[in-house]
Amino acid sequence: MAPGSAQALVTIMQGCNNFCSFCVVPYVGGREYSRPPAEIVAEVQEFLAAGGQEVTLLGQNVNSYGRGSQSLSPCPGCSADSPTCRG
Ligand code: SF4
Repeated sequence: MAPGSAQALVTIMQGCNNFCSFCVVPYVGGREYSRPPAEIVAEVQEFLAAGGQEVTLLGQNVNSYGRGSQSLSPCPGCSADSPTCRG
């Protein structure tokens, strides 16, 4: 985040597990890793408190956020028993 900026780009996960034949990301970026939700929320809150207005969440595969982690729910507040949860 640039100081004084109204827009922030916040990385929520990195890496990739897909190993597409033409791509180096899994080799150079490693396997998927999701940042802890509390860490992301704290970063966004700090940005908003400083006057920020727009946040874009980034990741190599944002749809994979929280997968492969025992400690993360892909959607905070969601019950794992929810019939609509695809996490
Ligand atoms: S980053 Fe995209 S293109 Fe590369 S391996 Fe992952 S899914 Fe495939």
